[in-house]
Amino acid sequence: MSVTADHPRTVTIDGSGVETAAHFDVINPATGEPFASAPAVSPQQLDAAVRAADAAYGRWRRDEDARKAALLAAADAVDAAAGELAAILTAEQGKPLQDAATETFLVSLWLRYYANLELGPEIVRDDENGYAEVHRRPLGVVAAITPWNFPLTLAMWKIAPALRAGNTVVIKPSPFTPLATLALGEVLRDVLPPGVLNVVTGPDPLGASLTTHPLVRKISFTGSTATGKKVAAAAADDLKRVTLELGGNDPAIVLPGAPIGDIAAGLFWSGFINNGQTCLAVKRIYVHEEQHDDLVEALAGIARDVRVDEGTAEGVQLGPINNRPQFERVSGLVADAVAHDATVAAGGQALDRPGYFFAPTILANVSDGLAVVDEEQFGPVLPVISYREVDDAVARANSTRYGLTASVWSADPEHAAEVAAEVDAGQVTVNMHGGAVTPDLPFGGHKWSGIGVENGPWGLYGFTETQVLAGPARSA
Ligand code: NAD
Repeated sequence: MSVTADHPRTVTIDGSGVETAAHFDVINPATGEPFASAPAVSPQQLDAAVRAADAAYGRWRRDEDARKAALLAAADAVDAAAGELAAILTAEQGKPLQDAATETFLVSLWLRYYANLELGPEIVRDDENGYAEVHRRPLGVVAAITPWNFPLTLAMWKIAPALRAGNTVVIKPSPFTPLATLALGEVLRDVLPPGVLNVVTGPDPLGASLTTHPLVRKISFTGSTATGKKVAAAAADDLKRVTLELGGNDPAIVLPGAPIGDIAAGLFWSGFINNGQTCLAVKRIYVHEEQHDDLVEALAGIARDVRVDEGTAEGVQLGPINNRPQFERVSGLVADAVAHDATVAAGGQALDRPGYFFAPTILANVSDGLAVVDEEQFGPVLPVISYREVDDAVARANSTRYGLTASVWSADPEHAAEVAAEVDAGQVTVNMHGGAVTPDLPFGGHKWSGIGVENGPWGLYGFTETQVLAGPARSA
């Protein structure tokens, strides 16, 4: 099935498209104006979605072959609708169409990875004294809650492993970007058995209502640390399982003598991926004081040449910031840095046009303690901070509550790897940043960046409980 002509208007409950009485506006970030009206489920409809997932669970969990086949069919269906999904994503999120197409491609990549992942029990012993196997059993109904930066990719980081493990899902996307996930629900309606994947949308507190539903056994949440803590608190009462993928304030450490000309473009795009609205984007760069000016000049040169425009424009590289609160936050952090003597080497202000466009911004002579360094700024801004001693740079990189990703840049990869081992983050890369996000590697944060991981078998285990199956010797 392909998605409806302009934008989806129904939620998916028990395999059917369901109309809602209430609706809410979706804003086009390139204009700041509403362009679509999304369905807002009632409390009864939310309940019906969770109950549908619960009713579908018993059969779904028992037939592993059917699950694998369904995930492969889902991947094919997503590929067939890729153009429409990408167009909807660009319209509501703002990202360039080619980036939306990549995001859609990742959806089917993840589906195929999990369809093909073999999950036999682990046989711990099987001898004359008896046998003992460790099995992974599904949990039941999974509530998946996603943010507005990568609505489709992050949805599939949850849906694919949860379904593969035998759970059923109710997903609730961000109210800033509900349409692509609604469209995904439409695309998969005829592919998955009814009730296996339900898609509900609406303004908050819909997410909170979903997390407290008694039939939900697991909450898989991606979003801010502040909301993640609320989710954990809501889960505690019923001991629902949680996986939390939260904020980051990811440092890049440029070691003394690093070849600035060679690394500048990689560093720049590591910070500006998805316009900086990426949990794992570089948020602050530490560079030796002797190379501070060279690096700033190189980054500023790239920033000035970047084509910022609406996502469908020819040759566009960066789109607008997704929403007004985020646009105001980024503007405020840059103004605060400038008021505290940071230098604007490139950008520094909003573009003079409608919508939430902000010029790619490089801030120089920045010091720790400024909000733009200490807080997760999540926008098209890179502060450059100088250091004298590598140990001091590492200590400052680590002096944050967050620990999602980090990178170390150097002409000497072995030295870089030694320094990387000292950084407290879920992923530390050398001479690249965030480049190790693939279906088969665990992704998750240390400290306030989250609990648990997604992706690979490790991510799937988060949608299971272990069960030991043991008995006396099987053979006489
Ligand atoms: P957010 O926390 O405001 O919202 C995330 C989701 O939670 C939305 O769907 C929202 O409607 C819902 N929600 C709001 N209140 C809730 C509640 N009380 N209970 C349950 N759900 C609730 O985050 P955002 O602004 O949409 O996204 C940006 C944040 O996401 C950034 O902090 C970013 O770092 C983080 N993020 C993390 C990762 C990761 O993998 N670690 C990936 C992408 C984004």
